Amino acid sequence: MPSTPIITSVFDLFKMGPGPSSSHTIGPMKAAFDFRQRLASLPADVQHQAEAIHIYLYGSLSATGKGHGTDRAVIAGLLGWQPETTDPVALMALLRDPALVYTVAVGAETIGLGPQHIHFERKRYESPYANTMVLQLRAGDELLHSEEYYSIGGGFILRKGEPETDPASVAVPYPYSTMTELKAQLTTHALTLDELMMANEMGITGRSRTEVNARIDQLLDFMHKAVRRGLRHTGVLPGSIKLSRKAPILFRKAKGMSHSSDSFLIFLNAYCLAASEENAAGGIVVTAPTSGASGVIPGLTYLAKKHFHYDRATLRAGLLAAAAVGFLVKHNASISGAEMGCMGEIGTASAMGAAFLTRCAQTSDDIGAIEAAAEIGIEHHLGMTCDPIGGYVQIPCIERNAMGAVKAYNAFLLATSGAASFQKISLDAVIKVMKATGRDMSTKYKETSEAGLALSATEC
Ligand code: SF4
Repeated sequence: MPSTPIITSVFDLFKMGPGPSSSHTIGPMKAAFDFRQRLASLPADVQHQAEAIHIYLYGSLSATGKGHGTDRAVIAGLLGWQPETTDPVALMALLRDPALVYTVAVGAETIGLGPQHIHFERKRYESPYANTMVLQLRAGDELLHSEEYYSIGGGFILRKGEPETDPASVAVPYPYSTMTELKAQLTTHALTLDELMMANEMGITGRSRTEVNARIDQLLDFMHKAVRRGLRHTGVLPGSIKLSRKAPILFRKAKGMSHSSDSFLIFLNAYCLAASEENAAGGIVVTAPTSGASGVIPGLTYLAKKHFHYDRATLRAGLLAAAAVGFLVKHNASISGAEMGCMGEIGTASAMGAAFLTRCAQTSDDIGAIEAAAEIGIEHHLGMTCDPIGGYVQIPCIERNAMGAVKAYNAFLLATSGAASFQKISLDAVIKVMKATGRDMSTKYKETSEAGLALSATEC
């Protein structure tokens, strides 16, 4: 039995929500929604005194929260909006008029909320996570209620003091916490990776096989809708960079090309840029594993469907293999750019994409090749910094998704062109290296826009 088995659901790793950042948009929205729910259950005499809600953003949430729309996301959560059902157009309209006061219900009382209640704090705050937010309910200077939340990447949040789910309370039929343990479970029980992942998902969520398959199909549909929207939409992305969308141009170019190898790559680039540009515009995307990296897997799954004509069952098996890799990174390192730099986001997405392609190409499940592909995917993103210009998830993020997908494709080719035993570095080992590298990386390069490309903003 592993020490702390993975108990994350596929549908928590891949979730729908508005862009541009799972840690700066979806996570804060969920935290603010949770705070609203907690205010609703305060004693009536406390609710009656409430005069204001103040939100304090620290670390990367403060440094790049403006560009990522964290302020709008927090207001939306306090208004009772949830990521899966948020209208992206309405979300973008929040705070457009800084004089507008939003009303938040606190029991029978209503209190006003505006931009003056959101504080982008520059001072250092002692916290175990880079993305920290503190929400307070106040009556003048008196603190009535306070909660501290951490946005830990991919839209996952933790609340200070909240006991973690006891893994023993979750019915995981085949527990594992590393690739070594996962492979041991496959061998011991003579299972394929698809079978193990499906059994665990059913155990964790209580859903039937039919329900799990239907939800995976829904995820793929949402990913592909984002790609199709992005291939149609033209114009300039929101924000001060004034970056033009490129996906429709590449798509037209690829369709007009006769040279098949070039057109294949340009199609793949177009699909990844399309989903990433939709994310940058605040559209609804699927975290894969994050919103910043939500172009890699949608681009690859769209390619797999349109160019390789894989059927639904194959795409589902591929997505489960991708999820297994995402779980391992999230559990043993982090998928947050604020913790790991971009290797945690695009590096993980690329490794997941490589596992997806490898599983799709197999007639029977070969875990050795899947592991090798994922390992190569991470290995060649180690040390990659996160330095988005102006805090917008645009430069380098959008093209980085396309590059991550191209590397995923090459990782798949490298892993399947020789015996898996050629591979000298295990997936567990490279995830450990990622964690150590992320720890050593200067904070300047972890989603703060204080160094690297972010300093080229004036030259744009
Ligand atoms: S540079 Fe990478 S990690 Fe940073 S915001 Fe962009 S996609 Fe995310």
